[in-house]
Amino acid sequence: MHLYSTLTKTTEPLTTLHPDRVYLFVCGPTVYDYSHIGHARTYVVFDVLAKFLRSTGKEVFYLQNITDVDDKIINRAKEEGISQSELARKFEREYLRDMQALGINAVSYYARATTHIPEIIDQIGRLLDRGVAYVTEAGVYFNVDTFERNGELSGQERAKRVSRVTDESKHNPNDFALWKLGEYGEYTWDSPWGRGRPGWHIEDTAISEKYFGQQYDIHGGGLDLIFPHHEAEIAQMESLEGKHPMVRYWMHTGFLTVNGEKMSKSLGNFITIRDATKTWKPDVLRYFLLLSHYRSPLQATDEGLANAAKRLEHIRAIAQEDMGPDIFGRKAFTEAMENDLNTPMALATIQRLAANGDIGALKEYGKILGINFLRETSAPLSVLQEIREELRARKQFEVADLIREKMVEAGITVKDRAL
Ligand SMILES: [Zn+2]
Ligand SMILES: [Zn+2]
Repeated sequence: MHLYSTLTKTTEPLTTLHPDRVYLFVCGPTVYDYSHIGHARTYVVFDVLAKFLRSTGKEVFYLQNITDVDDKIINRAKEEGISQSELARKFEREYLRDMQALGINAVSYYARATTHIPEIIDQIGRLLDRGVAYVTEAGVYFNVDTFERNGELSGQERAKRVSRVTDESKHNPNDFALWKLGEYGEYTWDSPWGRGRPGWHIEDTAISEKYFGQQYDIHGGGLDLIFPHHEAEIAQMESLEGKHPMVRYWMHTGFLTVNGEKMSKSLGNFITIRDATKTWKPDVLRYFLLLSHYRSPLQATDEGLANAAKRLEHIRAIAQEDMGPDIFGRKAFTEAMENDLNTPMALATIQRLAANGDIGALKEYGKILGINFLRETSAPLSVLQEIREELRARKQFEVADLIREKMVEAGITVKDRAL
């Protein structure tokens, strides 16, 4: 397997820290609202990656965090007049329902930020001991000037990077919060520096350190997370004991635009997974999302989705009779997947496998991609057809014709072989 890493900007063979085991971390959702189809793209891609790696015999520990403490959650809970935990649990459930609807089920463990507060506090304490963080009246901050490799992932000049949080008490505008002091209602915890809550970046490294250690194989997420989020994660983790690199393969999914524009509520082009699955079948959505390479920008349009539905239907229509394995088709599929998860190429191969009647491969690869390439009714139909043939061979034409009649009534075309 070869993967492109945002860190080295090259495609490299996948070499894992432990043989035959892959540690994969993907930034999970902030559970304050419904997820949109941009999220669906990212989670479908890593679902396919995990399933493909498992199909090659590797053991994959796929870890995802659930950001359930955040400004957006605090504000939304206030608006709705419910507690932060009620809101977070509600949208965590909705998120998991969306994932289930899309056949995304490769995650080994979902880790909530709020259930890892001791690990978060412990990690912040060690960063302070190392002298790379400092305490102000507003909270605990990471001092980015102490981290030499800062900016390596995003490739941005130090001067151009400015943290979104403006806080007068910070020594440097690029420093970011590890712990925010204050009373934030339900989700406020005691810490050695006073009551407060964690910053966003520290939850990922506290969680990944707990389950994986300070170094692991793959970290994934949307392109928009490179800066400041992933850059901050590297600074935190690598400052603990200097182990480098924290992650060898940083994988980022490209942007998804809707009708040529970035999704936003004000533009009215914000499409939730919930709404998308009302119009399009999950198979079609996955097929559409995987028709583009994960690093390319992707335009979601009704035409594009309708076209994907048509192409998938075509595959199902031509994949009828089992004609045994198509060795070259299978090889091409594996090569495409091993080449930085080239799903558009892999889907082109699926078309070939369907045309050549490699039903076994279509079933197996369908599981990896989470798409059913075969007509669901094809198995019972072929059984019915077999029974009819047997009846006709025994000259029991009356019963055979009755079955035929019923099949035609159900809209199924029935061809009789010559006896
Ligand atoms: Zn992360
Ligand atoms: Zn994250």
